[in-house]
Amino acid sequence: FDQRDGWIWYDGQLVPWKDAKLHVLSHGLHYGSCVFEGERAYGGQIFKCTEHSERFRKSAELLDFEIPYSVAEIDAAKRLTLEKSGLTDAYVRPVAWRGSEMMGVAAQHNTIHVAVAVWEWPSYFDPATKMKGIRLDMAEYRRPDPQTAPCHSKAAGLYMICTISKHKAERKGYADALMLDWQGRVAECTGANVFFIKDGAIHTPLADCFLDGLTRRTVIDLAKRRGFDIQERRIMPDELESFNECFITGTAAEVTPVSEIGPWRFQPGNMTKVLMEDYAGEVTPHA
Ligand code: PMP
Repeated sequence: FDQRDGWIWYDGQLVPWKDAKLHVLSHGLHYGSCVFEGERAYGGQIFKCTEHSERFRKSAELLDFEIPYSVAEIDAAKRLTLEKSGLTDAYVRPVAWRGSEMMGVAAQHNTIHVAVAVWEWPSYFDPATKMKGIRLDMAEYRRPDPQTAPCHSKAAGLYMICTISKHKAERKGYADALMLDWQGRVAECTGANVFFIKDGAIHTPLADCFLDGLTRRTVIDLAKRRGFDIQERRIMPDELESFNECFITGTAAEVTPVSEIGPWRFQPGNMTKVLMEDYAGEVTPHA
């Protein structure tokens, strides 16, 4: 992924993709002082661009560092990188990390570096294929207790257990894994939030110890606009067998129906389809 043509915004300027390097003694690499964002551009417009920039700065604050660019500057950096890339449908990846001046746990004055990369990511909206649903494994790791980790930060370090869980799931032939939280309640997938439907109502876990995704918030709004009954609440795994439909949400996943979680089966249905289509409409730039 590092030997491509293209441009990456790096500490305030566009540099050739291949030259966007950092030192091996970067604090972010050794101690996980690194945060990032995952965004998408549709038709040349970054969906919820400013909300992502705000979350990016907030994630860093939760890790006790400040991104040395304002929300407006981050927005501009993302748009410049997208424009320079010539792409319209793309993934946008801002990342910020502590630099290499001090190599110890404490590194209060290390330089904070920021980069933005974009790469092609077409939007395949094929409802028929998507409606088949994906299969999820149950993850062994749980989301950490809010007293154990800055769980609302999109911090690189919190993805360690996600990568392990997703690898395990993929080796068993699943698309992803569903993670419980520290109390054993249903939490989220390794890079997406989760929703369930039964008796015409939508249920989703309270985002009290994991990322409250921007897609999650968008889908909750879309459901409300449709007049759907939507409940954010505690969901225990023994309730999974009572749900008829299930879907996950995220910048990458958009709204993706789920057909299976471990021993439980779901039949993606009409409400899921409506929300999938409403979300597709929402991300499409309006003239
Ligand atoms: N949870 C995790 C762990 C994620 O990585 C993501 C993707 N950023 C989400 C939820 C969904 O967040 P969003 O809808 O903002 O992409």
